[in-house]
Amino acid sequence: MIACLGRIVHDSDAESKLDDDVSTIFNSLNLQGSIENDDVSGIASKDFGGLYSVKPLYLIRPSGAEDISRVVKAAAGTPHLTVAARGNGHSINGQAMADGGYVIDMRSTGENHFKLLTVNGSPCIDVSGGALWEDVLRRCVSRFGLAPRSWTDYLSLTVGGTLSNAGVSGQAFRYGPQTSNVMELEVVTGKGDITVCSETQNPELFFGALGGLGQFGIITRARVKLQPAPDMVRWIRVVYAEFEEFTRDAEFLVSQKEDESFDYVEGFVFCNNDDPVNGWPSVQLNPDQEFNPAHLLQTAGPVLYCLELAFHYRNSDQPSTVDMAVSRLVGGLGFVDGLISQVDVSYMGFLLRVKRAEQDAKANGVWDNPHPWLNLFLSKSDIVDFDRTVFKKMVKNGIGGPMLIYPLLRSKWDSRTSVALPEGEIFYIVALLRFVPKGPSVEKKVAENREIVKWCIKEGLDFKLYLPHYRAKEDWKRHFGNQWTRFEKRKANFDPMAILAPGQRIFKRTNQ
Ligand code: FAD
Repeated sequence: MIACLGRIVHDSDAESKLDDDVSTIFNSLNLQGSIENDDVSGIASKDFGGLYSVKPLYLIRPSGAEDISRVVKAAAGTPHLTVAARGNGHSINGQAMADGGYVIDMRSTGENHFKLLTVNGSPCIDVSGGALWEDVLRRCVSRFGLAPRSWTDYLSLTVGGTLSNAGVSGQAFRYGPQTSNVMELEVVTGKGDITVCSETQNPELFFGALGGLGQFGIITRARVKLQPAPDMVRWIRVVYAEFEEFTRDAEFLVSQKEDESFDYVEGFVFCNNDDPVNGWPSVQLNPDQEFNPAHLLQTAGPVLYCLELAFHYRNSDQPSTVDMAVSRLVGGLGFVDGLISQVDVSYMGFLLRVKRAEQDAKANGVWDNPHPWLNLFLSKSDIVDFDRTVFKKMVKNGIGGPMLIYPLLRSKWDSRTSVALPEGEIFYIVALLRFVPKGPSVEKKVAENREIVKWCIKEGLDFKLYLPHYRAKEDWKRHFGNQWTRFEKRKANFDPMAILAPGQRIFKRTNQ
């Protein structure tokens, strides 16, 4: 046991007594990992959002599922303690924190699982819930020439963290979110049971944990579907002045058969001006090419739309074959003549593109700014209204970060998972990814997000928050809608004392 319990100083005797009790419990646990007072690293009371900070009692670095199970059982033996799994802490609103509870640093288990398997003739990989997707990518490609099918844009996120939400990027239109690409999980429930689950074995736990906001169990292993990794990617951006033309092409591309479309389809909104962060310079893929606004008509509005596309190919493909295939696909699109930018990059270089942006942002001190982000899933039927009011008016001057918008297909999502979605086959993900300097403007931007959500509710838009953040139970009930009863039942089954993921603020810890 390498448990190094930090000394805690409290004002009252009662609290000191409580701490002594807890220390005693943990000393008796025989953990293989370690326990520390969060003062040592401070990571457990911070997240990427930079908006909230709450202090846990201890930060635990488990060696694996057994340790996690012991911690959960120990918490269950107290009247009040909660347990939060912390993936890589890339939440925005304190979702991976535990006020006065135990934060489990899942990264310490990142190397526990890495095994290639063939299931029903198809390759898949067992990886740790605490593994970073970027490590999964590197290891799968370099060792086996294989890769997961569905990604997030940014890969310094943990497997368990994104599977607890959904995991969405430009491949999701074809393969569904990451939650649709998992065959089996190992989960430590809120009762401390270590349970293997899949579509056929403990399916309620399996589907509950996928998109379950960490409410039903801590994912310690996931079996992820793989496919052959391409060598190269033709990465393309085309620009639209009219929203209707942008959405028509985007929806067309995501509705085509596999060999009749791109391998990745995303989009974003940017300002029709020369602002280096929000405007024309944010679009060009090739730094040697400048965005030429002369291609735009005078009638173009305050914002423009960019469709971002990728076409996979192999080193052995003839360049002329790749050019022809790409030209055929691009030729059917109605973007503004001349406003196309493209580069060829390695597959890994493409998937790790946000890592490079992170390095640049770290170099100029922007990465650690607060991030009052807003992510929504919004029905196709309401997307024009949203554009008219939010993009063309409320955020028309930019937000100091990307404004993503692209369509997804509901049929690629499994309705048995816990994720809440709008109705209709086509819906959009909208992401306002703000980087705001520390200071009073942060609160203003949080308020602006709240205004947008309030407006969506007032107008009766069919939307769901992605990476949701609510405080009142009523809001959670509205969020889950007719899935709420199922969500509550799953909680009662797998975490009846509401020990897990308290930072989501959905259920209150009970002593029953
Ligand atoms: P954390 O923030 O540490 O945890 C998130 C929640 O999951 C918490 O409630 C936590 O308790 C719980 N949790 C963590 N690990 C586990 C586990 N093993 N088992 C059960 N519960 C667990 N999302 C997308 O879908 N697509 C994107 O393209 C995308 N890009 C992003 C880019 C950046 C720069 C950032 C900061 C976030 C992005 N996200 C994206 C959001 C991201 O998927 C979520 O914030 C995710 O929760 C972060 O993963 P994490 O490992 O840091 O989890």
